[in-house]
Amino acid sequence: MTSDDHARRVGQGEPGGDPDHRRAAMVTNQIAGRGIMDPRVLDAMGRVPRERFVAPGYQAFAYEDRPLPIAEGQTISQPYVVALMAEGGRIRREDKLLEVGTGSGYAAAVYARLAREVHGIERLPALAETARRNLTAAGAGNVEVHEGDGSLGLPEHAPFDVILVAAGGPRIPAALKEQLAPGGRLVMPVGTGYGRQTLIRLRRDETGGFVQDDLGAVSFVPLVGRQAWPGTDG
Ligand code: SAH
Repeated sequence: MTSDDHARRVGQGEPGGDPDHRRAAMVTNQIAGRGIMDPRVLDAMGRVPRERFVAPGYQAFAYEDRPLPIAEGQTISQPYVVALMAEGGRIRREDKLLEVGTGSGYAAAVYARLAREVHGIERLPALAETARRNLTAAGAGNVEVHEGDGSLGLPEHAPFDVILVAAGGPRIPAALKEQLAPGGRLVMPVGTGYGRQTLIRLRRDETGGFVQDDLGAVSFVPLVGRQAWPGTDG
């Protein structure tokens, strides 16, 4: 391979290159290249080592432009979608943020670089444990991972300035709307078909009213819970 070939491989973030180079290429091509402009979001995406959050055996694919399998049939979100949610949530340094569906902990690690305090909630105990381990290894000290049904939010830590939901439900759960602070932003995939949703942003104004807008078509695993889709386990 010539040095030109090498530069091209690294530049494209192909499997096998140095993770720091692949991550930088991912930010340029997949994130900035698709119109994400918030410099804090680009910086955070450029610093969190996604290769430490993917399932064993998938490290070589960590910077590909797609979700990847993690345990229990779930997925680590596509990097672009994490950036889209982070930018959509307009996360400020002083914010308290709730992430519903913490999975591998990757997105929570990105949000932890943008917000003051992050609470992640995950319904599957094995994944909650993995997320805690991954977040500790990545040095994210301002994230607490809780186990439970995030469609009910996390009342003991509410209200939240930002709520980001990483799984798709039929509607925005009432509990999450109630736990959004005045001025707060909630971003969630909503759709009546499994695996196909619209990314909805809800902003709560200072008088308690809600304004909704649409951030585009997305595909997430289902949100399973009391105010979401029924599970197969009752
Ligand atoms: N943000 C994660 C993506 C995980 S995929 C990451 O970066 O890796 C979505 C996750 O939502 C899955 O782990 C799934 O178990 C979880 N989930 C689904 N319904 C849930 C609910 N009601 N409460 C909490 N977690 C839920």
